Amino acid sequence: MRAPGRPRFPGAYSPARNESYRAPVPYIGEEQDLKQAAITGKRQCAIIDRPDPKVRENFCLVKITSAPMCTEYKAYADGERTETIGHEAAGVVVEAGAMGRVKPGDRVVVMPQYPCGACELCRAGDYIHCEHGVDPRAICGSETGVATYAQYCIKQDWLLLPVPEDVSDDHAAMACCGLGPTFGAMDRVGLAATDCILIMGLGPVGLGAVINATHRGARVIGVDGNAYRAELARKLGALAVLDPADEDLLKQVKSLTGGNGADCAVDCTAVPVAQKRCVELTRRRGSVAYVGWGGGFETGNMIPGGHSLHGCWHWNLTAAPRMMRTIRDCSRQIDTLITHTFPLSRLADAWELQLSGRCGKVILHPWE
Ligand SMILES: [Zn+2]
Ligand SMILES: [Zn+2]
Repeated sequence: MRAPGRPRFPGAYSPARNESYRAPVPYIGEEQDLKQAAITGKRQCAIIDRPDPKVRENFCLVKITSAPMCTEYKAYADGERTETIGHEAAGVVVEAGAMGRVKPGDRVVVMPQYPCGACELCRAGDYIHCEHGVDPRAICGSETGVATYAQYCIKQDWLLLPVPEDVSDDHAAMACCGLGPTFGAMDRVGLAATDCILIMGLGPVGLGAVINATHRGARVIGVDGNAYRAELARKLGALAVLDPADEDLLKQVKSLTGGNGADCAVDCTAVPVAQKRCVELTRRRGSVAYVGWGGGFETGNMIPGGHSLHGCWHWNLTAAPRMMRTIRDCSRQIDTLITHTFPLSRLADAWELQLSGRCGKVILHPWE
C-alpha cells in the first residue's frame, strides 16, 4: 500500500505523445495495490486498482514485465465487460511456491491455463489438454492473479519456465501464443526440412508459424490478403505470400510445389472456408494442423486425399529447452515479429492498432 494520490507508474497520466493516438485510458479507483486492465464498454477500457494476489501451496507470485496481446481486442471491440484479461506473460518471481522449483528473482515465462498437474496428460507435458483444471483463486484465497494485462499474476511453479540470461523477457514471452501453438503444430505434423508448408492466415500466430517453419528448414507459402502482414511474412522468410481471394490459388500453390500441393498446412484463421482450403491445398497423404479456433470449423472432405488432421492448441512442455533454443536462434526474426510495445496506460491505442491489422505481435508493459 502506498500514499494515496502518488502515481504508481509513470506515464499513466501523461498526455499522448503521438497526437494520432487516443488519450491515455482513464484511471479508476483508489490507489491500492496492483493495476490491471478492464473492459468497461464497447471500445472502452480502464486501468483499475485491485488487491495484490496471494499465493499458497505450489503457486508463485510473478511480477509481469511483458504481456503479449492475443485476441482480447475482440472482447474490447464487442464491449464484453471484464477485468480478467490476457493469458500470456513473462516476468520475475516475487514469491515462490513450497516446492522450490523456482526462487524469488528468477525470470520466467508464465504458461497458460491452470491444469491439475497430476493426470496422465499433465505428466506427459500435454497439460494444455488437462480436463481437471484447478481454481487458483480458491486455492490461494486470492481475489486476483489470473489476468496478465496486470502487474502481477499467480501460477503453479511447474508452469513457470526459466528464461536464459541472454534472452529478453519480451522474446521469452513468445513461448506463449507468439510461437507456441504453431511450434506444437509443427511437432504434431512432423515438419521436415525438406517440406513445403502452407500457413493459412498471417496474423501474429501465423507470422510465428513462419518463424517456426523456417527455423526447421522448411519452405513456407503464406496465404493472407493483408498487405502489411504479407510484407512481414516475407521479411520473416516466407518463400511466397499468396492472396486467398485469387481464383487460381490452387494453381499457384501447385506451381510452387512441383504440382503436388503443400506437404502440410497450418490453419491460423479459425475461418471455416480457409480451414477447408487447407485440405485442398495440401498434397495427398499430407497433414493439416488446426491452430486457430473460435469461429466455427469445417475441414471439407479429407478422405480422397487421405489427409491427416490435427487439432493443436499449444506445445508439449517437455520441449521447453528446444523452445528456448528456438527463441534464442530466431532473435532477429522475433524483433521483426514484435512490431509494437505499449505501456499499460496506452492499452486503448494498442487495441485500436490490433483492430487495424497493421501490426505483428503487440506487447504490453504493465509497469510502464
Ligand atoms: Zn491434468
Ligand atoms: Zn494467446
